[in-house]
Amino acid sequence: MTTPESSSESVEFVAAMERATRWISDYFDCPEKYPVLSPVKPGTIRGSLPQTPPLKGRTIDSILDDFENKILPGITHWNHPAFFAYFSITGSWPGIMGELIAAALNVNGMLWRTSPALTELETLSLDYLRQLAGLDDRYFGQILDTASTSSLVAMAAAREQLDGLEIRKRGMSGAPPLTVYTSVESHSSIDKGAIVVGVGSDNVRRIKVDGCFRMDTEALRSEIERDLSAGRRPLCVVATVGTTSTTSVDPVPAIADICEKYGIWLHVDAAYAWAAAVLPEKQHILDGCDRADSIVVNPHKWLFTPIDLSVLFCNKRDVLRNAFSLVPDYLTSSGEADQPNLMDYGFQLGRRFRALKLWMVINYYGVEGLQKKIRGHIELAASFAAWAKSHPDFEVMAPVEFSTVCFRFNPGTRSLPPEDLDIINETLLENVNKTGRVFLSHTRIGGRICPRCAIGNIRTTEKHVTLLENLLEELSAELV
Ligand SMILES: *Cc1c(COP(=O)(O)O)cnc(C)c1O
Repeated sequence: MTTPESSSESVEFVAAMERATRWISDYFDCPEKYPVLSPVKPGTIRGSLPQTPPLKGRTIDSILDDFENKILPGITHWNHPAFFAYFSITGSWPGIMGELIAAALNVNGMLWRTSPALTELETLSLDYLRQLAGLDDRYFGQILDTASTSSLVAMAAAREQLDGLEIRKRGMSGAPPLTVYTSVESHSSIDKGAIVVGVGSDNVRRIKVDGCFRMDTEALRSEIERDLSAGRRPLCVVATVGTTSTTSVDPVPAIADICEKYGIWLHVDAAYAWAAAVLPEKQHILDGCDRADSIVVNPHKWLFTPIDLSVLFCNKRDVLRNAFSLVPDYLTSSGEADQPNLMDYGFQLGRRFRALKLWMVINYYGVEGLQKKIRGHIELAASFAAWAKSHPDFEVMAPVEFSTVCFRFNPGTRSLPPEDLDIINETLLENVNKTGRVFLSHTRIGGRICPRCAIGNIRTTEKHVTLLENLLEELSAELV
């Protein structure tokens, strides 16, 4: 038996990697052999493992055995091709290679010189990402962990730009109340960001939407006017391209007009839908975004890059720098005039080499490969929506612009009251998910429960969408 003491590091490592690689490749060949939603009860996984650390190190084989036997049952399989919940996100093996090599290098890109390749590959691959969607080159990109962080950093930059307040130096006391504007459909990360930068959740104005779930710009304008006349200071407007519930697209050009008129920072949350703009026929969804001060995009959502990797684009690099740069003596460095020290553009000092996985993904698939996959997902969603529309007992609840369909069961032969429809749809969801063969989540539209099917998995094909349709057909029939 091999033990850590008796074998050389490299022999043990290669053997362990061979086992892990084989496991991953078998897994990718057939993620469907697992239930998509983990069926374990709370505490099962923790309870199956020792509660104290081992005194002596264990063999990697026994550790991997624990992974396969004890940990894996507690995995909900986002790689399963019938994972249709939330925003189904998808990694890819070139992205995994990037993660692996980045972990091996274990560099920290706080300064350009602490790994020149990290900084330069980050700016280059974000230039690729920008070009993929036709955004112009005034935008400076940086990689962060999640969209929540990216939007928070954008709000801190917007705060820095407020004339005459000097909040960075003086803090919020003495400043007038700040306000943030976003639609009722935008993501909860906007409220969280507003809480963290000191705006407070009471000062987040949730603007109403039109019949297609897009921000009502007249309501936006009148809220801003009202706050200004009450002596409040607008911090930013957050528009969404691809909202989390229905994937609606706010009217960014009209919102940009308002922001320009009142001198307010415009931040666009395109975390999910940016990926669709790699398609020439969808590039119009970013109309007006070239007038935004900042934009967040999540390649870890629908661009085949393993979580986590979010990108903040900002066309006010100086403002970002003024908001965040704070260089202690031990980190002073000179001579990188044209290369950024990325620590100066956000609140985190340390920086993983996340760019490597994005660079590998874009290079491996190429523009055409990415387009083919995204287009395929949009077509699958359209075919599921067509099924639901043509079915007498199902209805589609929101326009389908991307790869997400909000629908519900509404048996045509009876007119059930809305409360009963909610209960029936919740039960249907539960029963469908209990099969372990597909996973759907829900949203609320107009207060009513709607199951929601999001297609974003690299392995999803027609076969899986048909499986979903058949399960819905079969299990809904049992409910009436
Ligand atoms: C997913 C999503 C977010 C949150 O993303 P994280 O990276 O998990 O913080 C924010 N906004 C929108 C529109 C999203 O779809």
